[in-house]
Amino acid sequence: MVKTVLDAFCIKSGILCQKCQEKIEKGQITDLDLKMIRTLSEFEKDFPVLQDVQYQKAVEAGETLALLVDRRDVSKMLSSGGKIVKALGEQIGMRVRVLAYGGDARQFLEYLFSPFSILAINTIWLPDGSTETKVILTGHPPKRMPVDLEVAKRLAHDLQGMTLRIEFERP
Ligand SMILES: [Zn+2]
Repeated sequence: MVKTVLDAFCIKSGILCQKCQEKIEKGQITDLDLKMIRTLSEFEKDFPVLQDVQYQKAVEAGETLALLVDRRDVSKMLSSGGKIVKALGEQIGMRVRVLAYGGDARQFLEYLFSPFSILAINTIWLPDGSTETKVILTGHPPKRMPVDLEVAKRLAHDLQGMTLRIEFERP
């Protein structure tokens, strides 16, 4: 069973015990989380690797659903040639992007911008003392973007508190 802060039994039965219920009331688990946890546990029949995934949270940004799992489990989510992500996206009618939880900023950004590769990440200090993170992606911006850059900026802000500047550069 996909690992979450909720009891496996409660997710399976659909009837939450008081402890699980409190986690929802406190906002530790949102309705979206609940929906994604249930969807993932249904998907375990077809993709048993999901039983071993530590789920953290899901957030929506535009047409994208970002699914945060433990950084060690991202590769499991992306296994089966990307079939899991594709099937999940079809099921919920959104583009699914799997992100690493609990890793460093670079790892977070690598998954956020995949399939682009990152040439460099620089911190820019602004006169008011705040910082921006400049991400330089390798190559030219393609005509058809595989990553919605505005969505990426929003996710970096909401999940990591980072303000991004994105540039492309040939290595
Ligand atoms: Zn419970």
